[in-house]
Amino acid sequence: MIKAYAAHEPGGQLQPFEYDPGTLGDEEVEIKVEYCGICHSDLSMLDNEWGMTEYPFVPGHEVVGTIAALGDKVTTLNLGQRVGLGWFSGSCMTCEWCMSGNHNLCSNAEGTIVSRHGGFADKVRADYSWVVPLPDGINPATAGPLFCGGITVFNPIVQFDIKPSDRVGVIGIGGLGHIALGFLQAWGCEITAFSSSPDKEAEARELGATHFINSGDPKALESVQNSFDFILSTASADLDWNAYIAALRPKGRLHFVGVIPNPLSTPIFPLIAGQKSISASPLGSPVTITRMLDFAARQGVEPITETFSFEQVNEAMEKLRHGKPRYRLVLKHS
Ligand code: NAP
Ligand code: ZN
Repeated sequence: MIKAYAAHEPGGQLQPFEYDPGTLGDEEVEIKVEYCGICHSDLSMLDNEWGMTEYPFVPGHEVVGTIAALGDKVTTLNLGQRVGLGWFSGSCMTCEWCMSGNHNLCSNAEGTIVSRHGGFADKVRADYSWVVPLPDGINPATAGPLFCGGITVFNPIVQFDIKPSDRVGVIGIGGLGHIALGFLQAWGCEITAFSSSPDKEAEARELGATHFINSGDPKALESVQNSFDFILSTASADLDWNAYIAALRPKGRLHFVGVIPNPLSTPIFPLIAGQKSISASPLGSPVTITRMLDFAARQGVEPITETFSFEQVNEAMEKLRHGKPRYRLVLKHS
């Protein structure tokens, strides 16, 4: 039996919950969970904000742990090896997207906490292909958040070929946003942090931001019109997106990874006139995760975390609900 924490209704408290995972599949591995980060998506799923949560619901998709069992056909991982697991726990491995190294775009990719139980548990299972070894130089206690938050902000840097000479903005300095500052600084970009929390300014600057702007202040946004090559939004709220489109230079891109509640509405002419783009993306492929871990180890990019025991999981979820984390909460088995 796997011992987990589950909610039984939208917004419900997480309670001890046991389930039988059945026989281990040939290509599956079982991870003994040491740490699990808490992503805003865990909270959105707990509340069934996206209409796809099944209860009992076990959150957790920023897992770090060791391999406890290997399926018969798994040859690339070893028992006891330290690994991580993020939002995806499997993909078809046969479609055009998996075959071209874009597994994160597979239409049959399995979400670790979608219709199955996640990492707020003593063990969790996944297809071997999405279980990525931790390299030397990565601290296991803080690495969990790299497997969702980290890869979600690293992947667009690679996909859109962001250059060291680019001027970039990051909207929302939370779990994802603070890691984005670290990666973009290491990449060499000039960074502006857009935040609704004035008390984050000093830390945002330490993490690499040269400029700090109130993300909801129309005057401040007007002052940076025509300034950015790339703006990455990690905010989980609606903002004045047209002001951010105006803040892009010609050929600039406003890229969403944060899930916003309402549809976008934007006039087409500013996009046409400046050949500007709006886009969005989900996490990254296993090979991009490996590349990110290598880069993070080499550049010393490490999530800033606060650790809770698994028994304190509800306290930690409340802290996230109130926007209090500085900057990522991580659960740890005692
Ligand atoms: P988080 O730690 O809660 O950070 C979100 C940040 O958004 C907050 O720290 C805050 O930054 C800003 N924000 C929140 N409410 C706001 C408001 N009312 N007005 C302005 N700014 C506000 O969440 P996270 O874990 O980083 O996740 C961020 C988003 O990404 C979530 O929507 C999550 O579901 C999504 N996500 C998407 C993917 C993907 O695959 N695309 C992967 C992981 C997560 P400031 O205090 O700086 O304003
Ligand atoms: Zn996540």
